[in-house]
Amino acid sequence: MKILVINAGSSSLKYQFIDMDNMDVIAKGLCERIGIDGRLKHTPAGKDTVIIEKAMPDHTAAIGMVIDALTDKDHGVISGMDEISAVGHRVVHGGELFSESVVIDEGVKKSIEECIELAPLHNPANLTGILACENVIPHAKQVAVFDTAFHQTMPSEAYLYALPYEYYTKHKIRRYGFHGTSHKYVTGRAAELLGKPVEELKLITLHLGNGSSLAAVNGGKSVDTSMGFTPLAGLVMGTRSGDIDPAIVSYVAEKENLSVKEVSDVLNKKSGVLGVSGVSSDFRDLAEQAETNDRAKLSLDMFSYSLKKFIGQYIAVMNGVDALVFTAGIGENNVELRSQIAKELSFFGLSIDEEKNKVRGKDMDISTPDAKVKTLVIPTNEELMIALDTKRLVENL
Ligand code: ADP
Repeated sequence: MKILVINAGSSSLKYQFIDMDNMDVIAKGLCERIGIDGRLKHTPAGKDTVIIEKAMPDHTAAIGMVIDALTDKDHGVISGMDEISAVGHRVVHGGELFSESVVIDEGVKKSIEECIELAPLHNPANLTGILACENVIPHAKQVAVFDTAFHQTMPSEAYLYALPYEYYTKHKIRRYGFHGTSHKYVTGRAAELLGKPVEELKLITLHLGNGSSLAAVNGGKSVDTSMGFTPLAGLVMGTRSGDIDPAIVSYVAEKENLSVKEVSDVLNKKSGVLGVSGVSSDFRDLAEQAETNDRAKLSLDMFSYSLKKFIGQYIAVMNGVDALVFTAGIGENNVELRSQIAKELSFFGLSIDEEKNKVRGKDMDISTPDAKVKTLVIPTNEELMIALDTKRLVENL
């Protein structure tokens, strides 16, 4: 079975085409500048990337070009469209309506539409990707995989904010959490790596990238996560503030003569390690400058401090932890951060082998043999998770 995984944005669309017999990515690519002019970058496995520039007035045209590329006689990987058994779509927000991936039907599309108010930038694009595939590949079953679904198992004391209760009932204001597909994927891989059923494990999964979030995963279920109503909450991030005193919003609006929307933009785009350092949102740049630039160093210290506090919270939430799982750009690659976190949390029983800790981009238990709490590095693979859920759901149809 071969599955096409689609991640549709407002003017871009990423895809991977995966052979589920061996989990190999047969081709991947990106449509850019949809609705502007149009460019497709297509990379068949083991071959050079081809760039095709052609008008892409909408997502249907973009999907059409993806299909043409996949079936092209020179850089294609299949002989015909009928080899695409199913399509898995990343959908950012499923609100409280979806706690699992689902096969898409009319009702599901309507529900995704209902969640647009919660993710006004993302859900409309995701929906457009779904409609485009229905047009172009009508024979293929489609599945929606939600970023929020994995966290729907949180108990109400974890997901509710201490606001007037009707804000929850009227406006759906609550913690949803994001990166769920990644947290779910590394949870499953961690159980495999530890050789234990996931039901018996208490894990803290750390998805640390440009946007970062942690999840407390007890028995395979997310019981708390650091992002909230939006992906602005929680850890200090590349450009996002993470948790701050909410009173700062109105105070800054007044002092800087900004609208609430403008303050929100500052919190999303000009804060985090970028805002503190004034240098960059990229952790590699900051590490390079940390020795000579105090604010670059301070921003990194603030990031690791916020991370440490959240880990402590989640150990308390679960009354213990069996393993920390590092993933995404920073989690997979930042050797120094992993080492620092393990040292500073040695009280809880973390201990890592510095030789093993040199690993980048590979599944690995980097703990010392006597570590009471294991430390794992697991590269995330959201596309594979989407493909696996899609396969599981369409196989039973
Ligand atoms: P996104 O959230 O956009 O998917 P990524 O998961 O790619 O982001 O993470 C981007 C972050 O990962 C950047 O801050 C980058 O500096 C960091 N990163 C990527 N590679 C390395 C590396 N080799 N060493 C240290 N940090 C890295």
